[in-house]
Amino acid sequence: MAIRKIVEIGDDKLRKVCKPVEKFDKRLKQLLDDMADTMYHADGVGLEGPQVGILRRVAVIDVGEGLFKMVNPVIVEREGEQSGMEGCLSVPGRRGIVTRPNVVTVEYQDENGEPVTLQVSEFFARAVCHELDHLDGVLYVDKMDREVSDEEYQKYIDEAEEDDE
Ligand code: ZN
Repeated sequence: MAIRKIVEIGDDKLRKVCKPVEKFDKRLKQLLDDMADTMYHADGVGLEGPQVGILRRVAVIDVGEGLFKMVNPVIVEREGEQSGMEGCLSVPGRRGIVTRPNVVTVEYQDENGEPVTLQVSEFFARAVCHELDHLDGVLYVDKMDREVSDEEYQKYIDEAEEDDE
């Protein structure tokens, strides 16, 4: 278990196009495990290579449906549209409204190099789009419809808590 340092906006590493993974070895497994530890530690739902300074096409995602480790992921199909709030561990203290597809099909390899096809929707689809953008040097702030103020975010949190009661 190792928590890695999260790279923040302003660092060039977040703006590079990442290279594909070719070797499915122990080092890759270690990297994916460290990324998962780092994501959970930071209370995030996704993290990719460049966010820990590794310019390879790897991502970990857990939106509450279990941990997914994706190597060389590609979105092969997009359907519909959704608008919602996003934040990013590499852009601390900010949030924005971003429009994304509502359903995506993603093809990737697991940590052993086995091919996987996965169709996800709603928040999971949003997370996949956000995370995969990172692999091409794109951040959500580049494509958000608008920034969400702290006040507006607090109101959103309060309302979400009311819904839980
Ligand atoms: Zn992000």
